[in-house]
Amino acid sequence: MKDKPELNGIMEFGDMPASEFRESGRWALDWLADYFENIDDFPVLPRVEPGDISRMLPSDPPREGEEMGEILEDFTRIILPGVTHWNHPGFMSYFSITGSGPGILGELLCAGLNVNAMLWKTCPSSTELEQTVMEWLRKLIGLPESFWGLSYDTASVSTMHAIAAAREMVPGIDVRRQGLCNSGKRLRLYISDQTHSSIEKSAIILGIGLDGVRTISSDEDFRMEAPALAEAIKDDIREGWTPFCVVATVGTTSTTSVDPVDDIADICREHGIWLHVDAAYGGMGAVLPELKWVMKGCEKADSLVTNPHKWLFTPQEFSALFCRHRDLLKRAFSLVPEYLKTDQDQVALNYMDYGIQLGRRMRSLKLWFIMRYFGTSGIQRRIRRVIGWAQEIAAKIDNHPDFVRIAPVPFSTICFRAVPEKSENDGDNSATVDTLNQKLIHAVNRTGRVYLSHTRLNGKLAIRMALGNIRTEKRHVEEAWNTLLEEWESLKEEFMEAG
Ligand SMILES: *Cc1c(COP(=O)(O)O)cnc(C)c1O
Repeated sequence: MKDKPELNGIMEFGDMPASEFRESGRWALDWLADYFENIDDFPVLPRVEPGDISRMLPSDPPREGEEMGEILEDFTRIILPGVTHWNHPGFMSYFSITGSGPGILGELLCAGLNVNAMLWKTCPSSTELEQTVMEWLRKLIGLPESFWGLSYDTASVSTMHAIAAAREMVPGIDVRRQGLCNSGKRLRLYISDQTHSSIEKSAIILGIGLDGVRTISSDEDFRMEAPALAEAIKDDIREGWTPFCVVATVGTTSTTSVDPVDDIADICREHGIWLHVDAAYGGMGAVLPELKWVMKGCEKADSLVTNPHKWLFTPQEFSALFCRHRDLLKRAFSLVPEYLKTDQDQVALNYMDYGIQLGRRMRSLKLWFIMRYFGTSGIQRRIRRVIGWAQEIAAKIDNHPDFVRIAPVPFSTICFRAVPEKSENDGDNSATVDTLNQKLIHAVNRTGRVYLSHTRLNGKLAIRMALGNIRTEKRHVEEAWNTLLEEWESLKEEFMEAG
């Protein structure tokens, strides 16, 4: 670590002096540059127990101000040891995200300007840059012009807004005025058994309720079964439900399966049902010409969410919602008190009209930096590379006597399971094999070099390896594979001896 910077005393009034800001700022940027140069040396997962970090923090705030040098020192002494390094090249858990250099610089400037772009007038650049960046992103993933985009913090929140707009489209009810409980209708929302939990959370918030959510089964490749959806809708109409929204997924969270959006869209059209596509992860795959197929049918959707903070090297938080019914989104959320009326309301876009939040940061700055710095072809090269490595790992798994791949690998996430000599007969020893796989994940993660996660598929525990960090190189993927093999060999020995 660097020496602590020399700092002035704390001023009685006003902000940190410019000279001190410059000095501490240089320290922080230098620290980050060193961090990225040496990130390989950190354990991906922190070696701490619950309570370890909070125990080191005072229970009361300081009475008098403290020197920035001391605060930064505590950052490295107390906070850093409890950090899970999502930016580590060996982070292959959940979805492997990246805070890239240009993205971090965009965040920094955004924090410095600290605008609140609730209205066009309260920061014209923010509103107009966001519109432009959203258009760039729409073209990048190949959505037609009929989609209008805006950003929210997360996919969970984007989806909640999309479903609120969907509710506006239901004929014969006025949710805005009467609320859902007085509408006299029972609304039905459809998901698959692989859909992300955020959609059910939306149902809870929006008054649909979990009973209003119907789960459709998925096929052996974890894709929603379109014929089962069609049946369920007809069934529900007969039973007095009002089907109003289907959520299909491009890149499910467990296996990254791609629902048959084209068929689902046709079913939705037939019944006048809103189709929302959750492409939080998979949408970014569509920047590659060879993966355009994953978006098939999405042009017929009513809305689609994709997350630049997942696979487009953008620091948390940045989710993009694209919607073909800008008017409905506005109708669901617009409420303008007198003090927020401006002379430009008729001609300019006020983002506060399109969501629950009033205030809005200049979120698009970081994505603008990223798209310009890497360029479309640079983005494509980086995404294509990890997909190639994932395919290689998938092939190695298929060729290994003890590993079974559990799902197709359309992107860069691999789900598999260790089964000694592939001897598992469904049923009896499945739980034992679950434990064995759990042990394998822990053993690999304990090395600090790699971080893998798990999921459960058809009742069985699966190991999940997700590639996607911009700093991951071929050698890290090889290291992950070799670590997995080594840990497996010793676990297997134990297992075989125990009989
Ligand atoms: C990650 C993920 C989400 C949730 O994303 P947040 O931005 O964290 O809300 C939703 N849907 C899918 C398919 C995801 O993979």
